[in-house]
Amino acid sequence: MKKDYEVVIIGGGPAGLSAGLYTSRARLSSLLIEKMGVGGQIADAERVDNYPGFPEGISGFELGQLMHQQATKYGLETLLAEVTGIELHEGQKEVKTTEGNFATKAVIIANGSERRKLGIPGEEKFTGKGVSYCATCDAPFFTEKPVAVVGGGDAAITEALYLTKFASKVTVIHRRDQLRASRILQEKAFSETKMEFLWNTVVEEIKGENVVQRIRLRQVKTGEESTLGISGIFISVGLKPNTDYLKGVLPLDAAGYIITNDRMETEIPAIFAAGDIRRNSARQAITAAGDGATAAIYARKFITE
Ligand SMILES: Cc1cc2nc3c(=O)[nH]c(=O)nc-3n(C[C@H](O)[C@H](O)[C@H](O)COP(=O)(O)OP(=O)(O)OC[C@H]3O[C@@H](n4cnc5c(N)ncnc54)[C@H](O)[C@@H]3O)c2cc1C
Repeated sequence: MKKDYEVVIIGGGPAGLSAGLYTSRARLSSLLIEKMGVGGQIADAERVDNYPGFPEGISGFELGQLMHQQATKYGLETLLAEVTGIELHEGQKEVKTTEGNFATKAVIIANGSERRKLGIPGEEKFTGKGVSYCATCDAPFFTEKPVAVVGGGDAAITEALYLTKFASKVTVIHRRDQLRASRILQEKAFSETKMEFLWNTVVEEIKGENVVQRIRLRQVKTGEESTLGISGIFISVGLKPNTDYLKGVLPLDAAGYIITNDRMETEIPAIFAAGDIRRNSARQAITAAGDGATAAIYARKFITE
């Protein structure tokens, strides 16, 4: 077993970073474990216009870096590793990671969610060869090329709008007849000349030689099939909570989200959950950060009282 901590935080997105700020400012020895790089999903947002305090907006990457800088200033330690399990022992928890195991008095689980896959032929084969789940990461590869975006929520439309800066044309493919995205995003999308919409349509197959060249589509109301020639397809059809490693440890809801009360407590004493990984989360950076602060405050109460 490696060094002991009073609090171990799993995940370095807005929820984990805010939790780390609060626990380290409360002078609790705190370790944040992140498997990729701090910032979480918000680091993929080209511009964040709805995080209070930044009237001109801020890049998601910069927001994540600033949150980390602020928490580190108060003593938060960060480890780059993947958490693979939590074991419950009398009076303490053991957090298992790819870089060793850590004993702790309290755990704040804030390791968010990841993009859902379509599960269609060609998706896996062409991932990285025209199939992408992150426009901010991959948009420049499609400069002056036609691309499709699958989905109709905030994330999909944000990605589609970003892609219009690079691609020659962006076709949004949505299985319903209207978007779920916020009105402000819809207004931007409908006035963007490079964007087109295919309503009531699903992608059945992604095809190409070595890279994506076309997709096979089906109109869900008429059953009519068609083919669309594209160079890239960006899939943004919702999220899946990263809770596979928690099965059997904590009660999860049917979709795999962690159930908490309004203090972010789970059913297991000293295990808290915060952010997108929580059932009924609003899935925003600000709500994740709020959850992280709440979890940290009640973790401190648990430890000190
Ligand atoms: C393209 C895009 C644009 C968005 N734009 C906005 C916006 O404008 N405004 C807004 O408010 N929200 C926006 N969001 C949503 C926002 O990013 C999320 O709601 C927020 O990041 C959730 O924070 P979180 O800390 O709960 O989880 P996440 O941000 O998902 O962070 C979880 C972290 O945990 C890590 N992790 C996962 N599993 C493990 C493990 N086993 N071990 C260690 N680490 C692990 C991940 O690598 C990740 O860094 C956007 C999201 C996307 C994808």
